[in-house]
Amino acid sequence: MHNQNYIDGKWVAARSGATFKTINPATGEVITEVARSSVEDVNRAVEAAARAYPKWRAMPAPKRGELLFRVGELLVQRKEELSRLVTREMGKVLAEGRGDVQEAIDMTYYMAAEGRRMSGYTVPSELPNKYAMSIRDSIGVVAAITPWNFPVAIPSWKITAALILGNTVVYKPASDTPALAAAFVAIFEEAGLPAGVLNLITGPGGEVGDALIGHSEVKLVSFTGSTEAGHHVSIRAAEHLKRVSLEMGGKNAIIVMDDADLDLAVEGIVWSAFGTSGQRCTAASRVIVHKAVNKELTEKLVARVSKLRLGDGLKDSTDVGPVINEAALTKINSYMEVAHHDGAEILTGGGIATDGDLHKGFFFKPTLLGGVTRNARVAQEEIFGPVAAIIEVDSLQEAIDVNNDTKFGLSSSIFTASVNNAFTAMRDITTGIVYVNAGTIGAEVHLPFGGTRGTGNGHREGGQAVLDIFSEWKTLYVDFSGKLQRAQIDTEEI
Ligand code: NAP
Repeated sequence: MHNQNYIDGKWVAARSGATFKTINPATGEVITEVARSSVEDVNRAVEAAARAYPKWRAMPAPKRGELLFRVGELLVQRKEELSRLVTREMGKVLAEGRGDVQEAIDMTYYMAAEGRRMSGYTVPSELPNKYAMSIRDSIGVVAAITPWNFPVAIPSWKITAALILGNTVVYKPASDTPALAAAFVAIFEEAGLPAGVLNLITGPGGEVGDALIGHSEVKLVSFTGSTEAGHHVSIRAAEHLKRVSLEMGGKNAIIVMDDADLDLAVEGIVWSAFGTSGQRCTAASRVIVHKAVNKELTEKLVARVSKLRLGDGLKDSTDVGPVINEAALTKINSYMEVAHHDGAEILTGGGIATDGDLHKGFFFKPTLLGGVTRNARVAQEEIFGPVAAIIEVDSLQEAIDVNNDTKFGLSSSIFTASVNNAFTAMRDITTGIVYVNAGTIGAEVHLPFGGTRGTGNGHREGGQAVLDIFSEWKTLYVDFSGKLQRAQIDTEEI
């Protein structure tokens, strides 16, 4: 298992020799010790990426695509091994670990094919004997800063898009999942990526992240993580006039209307609220339910959620794994007091789980809160754990208003049998992603992904939209008239 930085095609320790431990959140087992990098290591990585850039940029994009295609093939071969490491280091159950890796495979193949497309547009010129067209150009060295909750998928979104467009990358993963980052980068090495094109730096976000953003050779910062850290990244990037794309927190909701298939809604809510222990950026942490079906839906949900089995995600018997670390466990638990203070009722769960071996890890009981009001803190703040708040409403209009009324705007869903309700919701919900009769999760890599309000800063990852983050438009005019033609001036002679 690799556990060092990867700089200029070599696995190297931090210059200081410092390390930190990465642990299994289900068992407390130390997985490995990794490099605790500092500014000096960041500088070496950025310099390597800057040196590699001209040659990588000059490589024809289809050739860069062939390298990514090889990465995709290796990911397919290593899927099981990587998925098990996802579960060990991040905690999500194995089926979801496989989903994480599969998303990286999908994205890598999608971006590999982009090497033969990368469409610009060619349009008629307003002058005779002149061509007008636009192409995408690379930007330079990109800093990719990623969270731990999708430790393979999210890095793949950034790294493969950056690389296919001809950029070189310094990748700074979350400190909770550095071994996965090294395993992912090792696949690019094995696929034959030239030295310096992709570099890995592990270490604390504040120190390493700040140094990366402040380095003059880093031209773009692509960040996914909490709104708090994203806010800081945005300010630091602005100080240096850097381009920055931000994907941040969420407070996603599922609306259940009075005409919904309640059993289907229950399945959607359980999967969206408690899958990945509620630690997906798209996790449903609010259930907005029409009063006519609140009682029945709540009973069905309590019956289902109270039976979810906590445990190590490598075991087949486990439905819900641990949360990422002790700080997260403490934070989630603190919201139980907040909920109580705001007049909510804990319908099931509501505390740290310590039965049997669970005390060795960081387990929180899947929790449903009833009687939550739209402005309560548990309805407004991102808890990022297995906790869902049920909010009763009188109408579709009120449901949509409640849905839109948070500082976040990532994902929403509506369960309804009415096409009118569905289309009204699709039109009036103001989050970046809207699902009908499905949970709040399930993004596909070839469509735009991202959020409004405090979730993002106007960019989208995934699909063709991500290309706008990692490239500059270049507009080309070719005049073959043999004389000086002045646009907007020489129009009358034509
Ligand atoms: P986080 O604490 O904000 O960390 C994200 C990344 O930023 C980590 O690599 C972290 O490094 C680094 N970082 C922390 N402080 C930094 C700083 N001052 N400058 C530069 N980098 C810094 O978030 P997380 O706990 O890993 O992830 C959970 C959050 O991510 C949730 O809010 C979730 O909603 C959000 N998320 C959003 C999306 C989306 O697409 N909208 C997707 C997934 C997750 P360290 O780990 O070393 O601190």
